[in-house]
Amino acid sequence: MKNKIPTRIYLNEDEMPKFWYNLRADMKNKPDPILHPGTLKPVVPADMEPIFCKESVRQELDETTRFIPIPEGIQDFYRAFRPSPLIRAYYLEKVLGTPAEIYYKFEGTNTSGSHKLNSAGPQTFFAKEEGLTSLATETGAGQWGTAMAMACGFYGLDLTVYMVKVSSEQKPYRKAVMETYGAKVIPSPSNTTDSGRKILEGDPNTGGSLGCAISEAIETAAKTKGCRYVLGSVLNHVLLHQTVIGLETKAALDKYGIKPDIMIGCAGGGSNLGGLISPFMGEKLAGKSDTRFIAVEPASCPSFTRGRYVYDFGDTAKTTPLLRMQTLGNGYIPSANHAGGLRYHGMNPVLSKLYKDGLLEAQAETQTEVFEAAVKFMKAEGILPAPESSHAIKAAIDEALLCKKTGEKKVIVFGLSGTGYFDLQAYMSYNAKTLSDKVPTDEDLQKGFDTIPDIPQNK
Ligand SMILES: *Cc1c(COP(=O)(O)O)cnc(C)c1O
Repeated sequence: MKNKIPTRIYLNEDEMPKFWYNLRADMKNKPDPILHPGTLKPVVPADMEPIFCKESVRQELDETTRFIPIPEGIQDFYRAFRPSPLIRAYYLEKVLGTPAEIYYKFEGTNTSGSHKLNSAGPQTFFAKEEGLTSLATETGAGQWGTAMAMACGFYGLDLTVYMVKVSSEQKPYRKAVMETYGAKVIPSPSNTTDSGRKILEGDPNTGGSLGCAISEAIETAAKTKGCRYVLGSVLNHVLLHQTVIGLETKAALDKYGIKPDIMIGCAGGGSNLGGLISPFMGEKLAGKSDTRFIAVEPASCPSFTRGRYVYDFGDTAKTTPLLRMQTLGNGYIPSANHAGGLRYHGMNPVLSKLYKDGLLEAQAETQTEVFEAAVKFMKAEGILPAPESSHAIKAAIDEALLCKKTGEKKVIVFGLSGTGYFDLQAYMSYNAKTLSDKVPTDEDLQKGFDTIPDIPQNK
């Protein structure tokens, strides 16, 4: 029997978004302003322009323009790998025996394997338009570095990637992909920067952290002529670019008159979740829907569920502007046995504000349960999910099983942010049953909180 709603709902090229949607324009309670770390006054563009591309800064600080046009040169880039499919999880529904309808937006169909290409393209395009010749960035698990290597290959810019050292050792193939696209990959901490050398002096055997790699990339951008820094998550302009995910999802659902009851996404810095839910959250803020939104984070890096809503730095060297966000403290380092990605200490300011105001829910999941959910999903649906994305799968399965108990036919939509082909080491650990759950104690978290800046705004 043929299904009424197709298994894969595709859009045509001409149905792809021509604008990004800036949710802040529709928020009555806006996130608190970004502060200059020296003056503690709200930043002005000139404060950020030595580090970031001008257009990224403009978008970062724009709280009023609802729809921001996607330049033709970026639409052109998007057409190489978008629109991405919205998939009805018929097979998973059947395995679960749930009356719920489950849909997922799959962002893993490009070579970088994740949604990150949606922001790598625009950021590189802006750099090129502004006459820059190179970019510097960091990568943890490697998806952002790969996406940036692809974008720089496409637009013809040089790229330096500081890759968290443990990750560059665990994922040599990620490094190989980046290098093949022409990027220079440096394991971090390195002796190529002052911040790297300082960290190495303190601990020569450190495996590195995302916060430390960010410091190295920012320093490189600041010291190199014609070079700027790009970040793959957390900041508002990154989330803005990711709204193509939500806008496409909405266009696809609208074709069949489907209204989501629950939307779920995994959250590291918040960009894929924020991008997926923005248009739907806009409707909720306007009183037009009652959709529930759920952020899913790892229990080992719980910035929503156990973090604080304060001003904090984005990096361990404390060089970035201050963001008011849910944070575990810029010095927080998740347990080394954590394999599932999403290791960043802070969370996007817009999502943090929505969480604080009770518009966004959050839950933390342990990694063994996340991998269990991943395996259940891949057996049913055939797609090998990224461990990050599997946090969303776990929550979606739980909600669907709840529907089975209550008999409710809810519509659940979740973001499948990427594939797990470069995460097989983690799957091997899961298969060998050596993956364990190490949830931080309150004392562990306190060490991170102690690194939060002691400023009047945080009192
Ligand atoms: C980077 C990444 C994430 C986490 O980043 P967000 O900014 O929270 O979206 C999630 N899933 C995948 C596959 C990623 O590569």
